[in-house]
Amino acid sequence: ILQLYVPLNFLGTYYRMIKQCMVDVEAMFRLMKENNDVPDEDGAADLALPGRDDARVDFEGVKFAYSGGADGRQILRGVSFSVEPGQKVAIVGSSGAGKSTIGKLLYRLYDIQGGAVLINGQNIAKITQRSVRCAIGIVPQDCVLFNDTIEYNIAFGKLGTSTMGTIEEVKRAAKAAQFSKFVDEQCKDGYQTLVGERGLRLSGGEKQRVAIARALLKDPPIMIYDEATSSLDTHTEKEIMLSINEAAKGRTNLVIAHRLSTIMDSDCIIVLKDGEVAERGDHPTLYEKSGGLYRTMWDSQLQNALSSGESASNMLAA
Ligand code: ATP
Repeated sequence: ILQLYVPLNFLGTYYRMIKQCMVDVEAMFRLMKENNDVPDEDGAADLALPGRDDARVDFEGVKFAYSGGADGRQILRGVSFSVEPGQKVAIVGSSGAGKSTIGKLLYRLYDIQGGAVLINGQNIAKITQRSVRCAIGIVPQDCVLFNDTIEYNIAFGKLGTSTMGTIEEVKRAAKAAQFSKFVDEQCKDGYQTLVGERGLRLSGGEKQRVAIARALLKDPPIMIYDEATSSLDTHTEKEIMLSINEAAKGRTNLVIAHRLSTIMDSDCIIVLKDGEVAERGDHPTLYEKSGGLYRTMWDSQLQNALSSGESASNMLAA
């Protein structure tokens, strides 16, 4: 048995290492795959932006179906809205309404079948995909963590540009995402601390902050926050909201919202239904519309929050 122990132990170790590498590679491919779908036009120019705090986004009559409508299912049937420089606009609607799709279209993961998506008046279908992606930071629903250092996990956010972030950029982004305090106080090797399966396990809120830092690494003029669907506790939700609001300053922000409690302070809320904008306005305006879609969603989320005891304080404070 002793003779077998050493080789079997080796095998076990290698198996775990190989399996872990596969997880990293798979995560990488998932990200790369969504990065390569749309070809640029010949001679397409780069996006021209006057300054970081000067980006404007317009959706004009956007029509979209996955796979070009081959399966006949229109997800967006002529959606129009604008996000002015420095604003925070939230997209809400029931599950499957097309909220995340709007974020993907702004990032030009897919080309649309009708209408236009414009950044500062430039149709993103006509400019280079690379320059569009350089201008946009995304905080995705699920942040993929690599089994590597905190530095690597944040520096990776420059993918889409040609380089990884430097340690100075990583630290600046972590500070802006309000993650630097955690690194300084809780991580014994600072930014060199290993995270993920083989290292420090991060909580849901800490992972979200890594995702925010990653997105801020490029110091992008436009941010898309695709809010995590899994519920965070009230305290963490408030903390993340603070981080997001800090990160949002001086940028143009689109929030794909699943929980209404997080977007009450938005400049405008767009309510999607059946592929169209059903309602739009700020929270007080939409909430006043008794029997309206937003009001109904709000009342039902409040009811759920009260019965589960989660996040209700945020909603009641409204
Ligand atoms: P949720 O609140 O559940 O996240 P959502 O409003 O963000 O929903 P989307 O993720 O935008 O909805 O999806 C809109 C519709 O498009 C859904 O019916 C979904 O199944 C479909 N869909 C999403 N991604 C794809 C894809 N890559 N290929 C085909 N259909 C898709």
